[in-house]
Amino acid sequence: MLVGVLALQGGFAAHGRMLRALGADVREVRVGADLDGLDGLVIPGGESTTMSLGIERERLAELLRAFAGPILGTCAGLIVLDRAHLGLMDIEARRNAFGRQVRSFEADLEVAGIDGPPLRAVFIRAPWIASHGDGVEILASVDGHAVAARQGRLLAVAFHPELGTDARLHELFLASCDGTTD
Ligand code: GLN
Repeated sequence: MLVGVLALQGGFAAHGRMLRALGADVREVRVGADLDGLDGLVIPGGESTTMSLGIERERLAELLRAFAGPILGTCAGLIVLDRAHLGLMDIEARRNAFGRQVRSFEADLEVAGIDGPPLRAVFIRAPWIASHGDGVEILASVDGHAVAARQGRLLAVAFHPELGTDARLHELFLASCDGTTD
């Protein structure tokens, strides 16, 4: 299993560590050719404007839109997947929706598809999903605001599952990367 982590900006290293701990091979993706042969791709948190500029600079937008495998977008990665950015997911992200620095927080989250105790989720200047189309399944909410969603092979969460020790969200993602796509 070879999983790419978009490594233009943001928290890609921690995703790599967690994916490797789960037994996946990891490739940092910086240019288009790095997408070849991947079984899945993570778009990490960071700063969505900076990340979008990097995607433009490296001419990655069309290649990311054409990528056929599963994608996990976290925090800024959720924003990058939304209608106003790559347009891969039928969601509208609201940036810094919980407020800025002061509204960084942790929460115990029930996530549809993850069994066992709630997931300890770290939110850092997080977005929420302000609206979504019919093909989108909301997996978790905080105070009535959607913070995790699935649309077929695409999974987006507003928090940082790569921080801490709970790897269940990455396990869920890896289960969808069955090694048959390239
Ligand atoms: N606030 C950031 C943005 O709007 C996202 C924060 C994060 O990824 N932790 O891009």
